[in-house]
Amino acid sequence: MQFIEALRLRSKLFFLFLLITIGLVALGIIGATYVNTMKKNMDSLYFGSLIPVTELNEIVQTYNYGLADTVYKVSRTELSPSEAISNLETSLHYINKKWKSYNSHFKRDDELAYLDYADLEVSNTNDYFYKVLNAIKSKKDVRKLSINTLEKKVSSIHNVLQKLINYEVNMANYERKKFLYAYDSILLKIGTSLGVIILGVLVILFYVFESIQKDQTRLEIAAKKLKIANKKLENASYTDSLTNLHNRRYFNFIYDREVKRAKRNKTYISFMMLDIDYFKQYNDTYGHVEGDYALKSVAKVLKDRLKRPGDYVFRLGGEEFGVLLSDTDETNSANIAREICDAIRAREIKHENSKVHEFLTISIGVVCCVADEALDEEVLISRADEMLYKAKESGRDRYVITSNVSNAKIA
Ligand code: GH3
Ligand code: MG
Ligand code: MG
Repeated sequence: MQFIEALRLRSKLFFLFLLITIGLVALGIIGATYVNTMKKNMDSLYFGSLIPVTELNEIVQTYNYGLADTVYKVSRTELSPSEAISNLETSLHYINKKWKSYNSHFKRDDELAYLDYADLEVSNTNDYFYKVLNAIKSKKDVRKLSINTLEKKVSSIHNVLQKLINYEVNMANYERKKFLYAYDSILLKIGTSLGVIILGVLVILFYVFESIQKDQTRLEIAAKKLKIANKKLENASYTDSLTNLHNRRYFNFIYDREVKRAKRNKTYISFMMLDIDYFKQYNDTYGHVEGDYALKSVAKVLKDRLKRPGDYVFRLGGEEFGVLLSDTDETNSANIAREICDAIRAREIKHENSKVHEFLTISIGVVCCVADEALDEEVLISRADEMLYKAKESGRDRYVITSNVSNAKIA
């Protein structure tokens, strides 16, 4: 069943369809062949035995009631000559016709000799009745007719025909037995063929279905892997590789979503713009590798501090970070900004060339307001940027917050 495995799903289904069609056609052919055989058996039973028996019986009845009775009655003047002539002619014509018909049926070789004898007997008997007929026609006195001869003739032909009837009845019994046997054996053959075909189709169906199921499982596994890979890819495309924070791309997506949500719910939205103080000098003093390490430390402080589901931390580029908070009022936003400044300083990352502090510090511009329909989304960013600039201007290592896009206050 290797070749089934190798087929594609569509080919497998086509193969299945083909298999069932072939099975049905095979069943049809076998059924038609057997029905034909049965028909032949029925024919030979009906035309070979039953019809001949009926014909012979009719001939015997006609000899008895058509011929013998008429002759007997006319000899006793119980019947008029004209009626007798008509009866005799009709009966003889009927017997000839029936005998001819009986002879025309298929005869076996071993029947032929007796059939010749019977034919001769029928002719002789008929000749006798023709003679009687002619005598009546010639108006001879039929009262002198020997009833004894008549009875002998009728009895003799009766015996001859009865033998044929017995033979035909025996043949009918034999044919019937043959038919019943053939019927049973045909039933058995049809049953066996049906069983073999159904079993064969079922076995192959089993393999095809098993193979389809395997394909399905493989597909499901592949789809799962693809989903995981896609998720990883998506995460990678939204993650900054140095700090593992969300990147600018993700910021664009989240910022838009969260601001819209806040506008819808008319809740607080806070955005912070963070920038490391004198970071150029830091790099110049300690080198780029140490600079990267410092960026990671700042990222860690931000991540550790902002863990609520509605808090987002981004690395917007270089040594600039963004923080988005939902449902946080001005007081809390200011507290968080201060805590971040304190926490960075408290990391005690040596920065001997900073003009603010002996350790690395950060400046933050914060904008916090209740969002409403009138809020311009871009204004939040530009205001945060302005606040950051003010924080830098007013000495760094601090935050500047505004709750109104037109008012700013310095911490
Ligand atoms: P200010 O206090 O006014 O912000 O001064 P600053 O020196 O931080 O300002 P500036 O924007 O001039 O310098 C930013 C520096 O950040 C320049 C660059 O060397 C450094 N920087 C930006 N991205 C990276 C980075 O990925 N790794 C490292 N190590 N340094 C970076
Ligand atoms: Mg900068
Ligand atoms: Mg800077």
